[in-house]
Amino acid sequence: GTKTPSSDSKEYRLKPEEELRLEVAEGKSDSVKLELAQGMAEIFGTELVCGNSYSFGPGSKLAVFTWHGCTLSIKGTPEMAYVARDTPMIIYLNTHAGVETLRKRAEKAEKRGPVVMLAGPVDVGKSTVTRILLNYATRMGRSPLYVDLDVGQSGFGIPGTIGASLVEQPASPDGEFANKAPLLYHYGSSNMGANPKFFKELCRVMADAVQKRLDASKKVKYSGALINTAGWVKDEGYSCLLFAVTTFNVDLIIVLDQERLYNELVRDVPPSVHVVYQPKSAGVVERSKRTRFASRMSRLRNYFYGNFESTYFPHTFDVKFSDLRIFKIGAPVVPKSCLPIGMTNEDAEMKLVQVAPSKELLNHMLSLSHATVDDEKTISTNIRGFIYVTNVDVERQTVTILSPQPRPLPDGVLLWSDVRFIDAN
Ligand code: ATP
Repeated sequence: GTKTPSSDSKEYRLKPEEELRLEVAEGKSDSVKLELAQGMAEIFGTELVCGNSYSFGPGSKLAVFTWHGCTLSIKGTPEMAYVARDTPMIIYLNTHAGVETLRKRAEKAEKRGPVVMLAGPVDVGKSTVTRILLNYATRMGRSPLYVDLDVGQSGFGIPGTIGASLVEQPASPDGEFANKAPLLYHYGSSNMGANPKFFKELCRVMADAVQKRLDASKKVKYSGALINTAGWVKDEGYSCLLFAVTTFNVDLIIVLDQERLYNELVRDVPPSVHVVYQPKSAGVVERSKRTRFASRMSRLRNYFYGNFESTYFPHTFDVKFSDLRIFKIGAPVVPKSCLPIGMTNEDAEMKLVQVAPSKELLNHMLSLSHATVDDEKTISTNIRGFIYVTNVDVERQTVTILSPQPRPLPDGVLLWSDVRFIDAN
């Protein structure tokens, strides 16, 4: 860590159980530097080291919480900075303690530890509470699995996917867990409603994979899993949520902020599933459509280019149309009378449909599947990485792609995503 000169910095003294809420403006604004000058403090469960300087880039929204009081020094100009006294941190800490008790019980009985799900509408802090609980778990020496079913704002950085990863260390203060190789499945849209049937199928596949990971090591098994979900909790979204509860054999659901959802879940989940209602933090920042879009783009940018802490150098190269095998999941729904005998539209939703390269590919993200052949297993095969199409040359019959790896493209099926990356680099 580097010591920051204190001339242009501002100091905040926090009393026990207070938090400093910070927002850094979006766009090309400068990052804000934060230093813990005295005492102890944490960012969503990650402890800060006294004297270290932490940087937060444009669009960051965070809270620095202290259990016992601390002094913080801020350099730069946050869009918003204020100290809040009312926080639900004590409730979240108690939740953690409860989950930890379940882990101890599991350990004694040599059974699987708790599978905990966070649910609630958008902008209630589901991802944040998931992160707090994961961090606290690792601070107790646990290694839980982190599963993110939010295809819009996935914790694993790639919109249009669901992911899971083992968490063995607290996240860095900017929120990233050291998940070098998360297990990712391609959904192909940042809109969960695009193909609910396929979404459920992916939940099933992910639940199987999670079960295997839990079975593979005692430490992970007793630690259990934390599942973050999307904020779409009505209609088909609710049906997907219920499906995930049973498929993942969830033990505990924490419903943030919405009593209606809480009551619906109490009514609809098996009696063995424990459902609790908890308040959201007043600090959770509401995000507009634009902000959500910007955050998806910055996550994609980080995937290809890294961030200011570690920069990556992606590769650009041309691929011939004839060397591309691109598929899309889900055929268009057609009138029943037009379907071949014995086929239903339901089947169509899970069908692999080949996509002929064309101008339409421009800016689209493509997932590179571990599957090398296009068969019925392809849609449930995990993803090894992502590329994006920066140019399509119809005359020369080539596409230009941006890839984290140098050429050639590894052998494998490419899956088309409706997510487009608008590269501002
Ligand atoms: P969605 O389901 O819409 O993705 P969510 O319910 O998971 O949203 P979060 O992503 O956890 O919500 O929180 C929204 C934003 O608010 C995040 O940028 C997060 O860092 C910020 N935030 C959460 N809690 C606080 C807090 N106490 N103080 C300041 N900012 C906060």
